[in-house]
This record gives sequence, C-alpha cells and structure tokens, in this order.
Amino acid sequence: MIVMDGKKIAADIRAELKARAAAFFSKKAIRVGLAVVLIGDEAASAVYVRNKIKACEEVGIRSVLKQLPAETSQEEAERVVMALAEDPAVHGILVQLPLPRHLDASRILSRIPSSKDVDGFSAENIGLLARGETCTVACTPLGVMELLKRYRIPTEGKRAVVLGRSNIVGKPMAMLLTNADATVTVCHSKTRELGAICREADILISAIGRPKFVTADMVKEGAVVIDVGINRVDGKLCGDVDYEALTEKAAYMTPVPGGVGPMTVAMLLRNTVDAAEKQV
Ligand code: NDP
Repeated sequence: MIVMDGKKIAADIRAELKARAAAFFSKKAIRVGLAVVLIGDEAASAVYVRNKIKACEEVGIRSVLKQLPAETSQEEAERVVMALAEDPAVHGILVQLPLPRHLDASRILSRIPSSKDVDGFSAENIGLLARGETCTVACTPLGVMELLKRYRIPTEGKRAVVLGRSNIVGKPMAMLLTNADATVTVCHSKTRELGAICREADILISAIGRPKFVTADMVKEGAVVIDVGINRVDGKLCGDVDYEALTEKAAYMTPVPGGVGPMTVAMLLRNTVDAAEKQV
C-alpha cells in the first residue's frame, strides 16, 4: 500500500505558492491578503483558524483575523463581511464554519463576492462547478483531486464512490470526479446496501465523520481510499477509515492526520493567490 503523503505534498505546494506570492508583491507592491472571520468560541474552529493563519504567514500571505463574539448579531456579521468585500487589500474572505446557531450562515456567506470566495461556497462558484466550468472550488475536495493528480491516479472511466453529501465536501467532490470522467455514486445516511456499493469503488472517498466506519470488507482489493473524516477518539485524531485493517487491501490510502487535512489548507492558500492574481 502506498501512503498518500498529504503533508509532504502540501509542503511542496506551499513552496510553489511562496514564489507566486513574492512575485505578486514585487509586481503590485501589496501583499496577497486573506481575511478570516471567526465568530464564537468553538475550540476546533479556533485551532483550524490558527493553522490557516500560520500557513498564510509561511507563504507570505497577509492575514487579517476578524474575531467576533458568539453573541454577534446577523447584521453585524454581515456588515463585517461587506466591509471586507469592499477592502482592496483583501483578496480572499473566509468565514469559519460552523457559525453560532442564531446566525444564518447562508446569508452571511452570500455577502462574500464570488471573486473573493476562496472557499468556493458561493452559489455562483458551485453552479459553475456543476456546469464543469472554471471556478473556485471548495478546498477539501480540491485537495483530494490534487492528491490524485500528484500520485498519478487516473479517474477516467473509474468507479468512484463518495460517502457524504455535504455542500462543502461530498457534493463538490462528486462534481469534480464527474467532471474528471469518473462514474460517481454518492452515498449518505439513507443509502441502502452501502457496503456493496463501496466494494465496487476503484476510488473510495469517505467524508462522513464516523470513526472506523469504512471497514476492510467494504473495500475492493487494490482500491484507492481517501479518508476526509476527522474524528476525535480518546483525545486522538482519526479518520472514517479503519486504516490498519486496510493496509494489505488498499493500493493507496491517505492517513489521518497528514492526508487530506494539510491539502485543504494548501488549497485555501492557492485559491487565495489565484484570487489575488485575478483581481488586480
Ligand atoms: P456533514 O456532517 O455536513 O456531512 C456528513 C455526511 O455524511 C452527510 O451527508 C451524512 O448523510 C453522511 N453520513 C453520516 N452518517 C452516515 C452513515 N452512517 N452512513 C452514510 N452516510 C452518513 O460533514 P462534512 O461534510 O462537513 O464533513 C465530513 C467529515 O469530514 C467530518 O469528519 C469533518 O470533520 C471532515 N472534514 C475534514 C476536512 C479536512 O480538511 N480533512 C474538511 C472538512 C470536513 P445525510 O446527508 O443523510 O445526513
């Protein structure tokens, strides 16, 4: 089994981006800028935001953190995003999800102009992706595609199964694989015969958030298994896949941590540099 080393590939990508960010600065005399809006005090969100800001610093992207209290009103949250939308020094805007329950995430996200939507969540970007046109793509599924590309795993004509149908992972993942000529099945909590469907997959991608959900009997010999899940069990991070049980069966597999996670951050940085290059 070949371990798909997301950590290493993400580092390679960051090095490429560092050069692009430096070239942008020498040409435009401003740095590529990413604004991160963090509302509330959820511990996991704070960790993700810290990681993203650290990654920005590493490649020379200027980050602006807008940290707002959990009781922030809908109007105030939208006002903050609209101000960032107007700011020419901000090329990308990210609103860290999930938001406190009283806030309407969809309305807040809709205040991000498509050109600054580095998470690829806007209706315009998702619509373009569905049409197979050039657009900004959500970072996690984009990171998965980049891993497949860098490990030279072909998708054309392959059977791909995506576990999970969320707007941020499962659905865009399925669209990307479809656009890349795979034959894609999307599974979710109401899917019947899920094991049998998974066993047909040449490429199996799990994004459901259930530890050790994907067991060896659900995987075809020689499959490519991509584990998007992030779960915490006894204080340790693990994915959706029973990794140890699959080392003899899968041909390629991503570890958790060190697989899709670092690729997600690298794709956020890439989307931000892309956005800056297009805007100025
Ligand atoms: P959501 O909770 O939004 O979606 C989970 C999906 O899994 C839903 O479509 C749900 O089905 C499906 N599902 C849940 N339980 C089952 C089950 N028993 N059988 C089949 N399908 C099931 O999660 P996200 O898409 O946001 O995230 C998925 C996982 O990926 C999480 O662990 C998250 O932490 C991780 N993640 C990792 C990232 C990374 O960078 N590595 C980035 C983003 C997320 P239904 O729609 O029917 O409810």
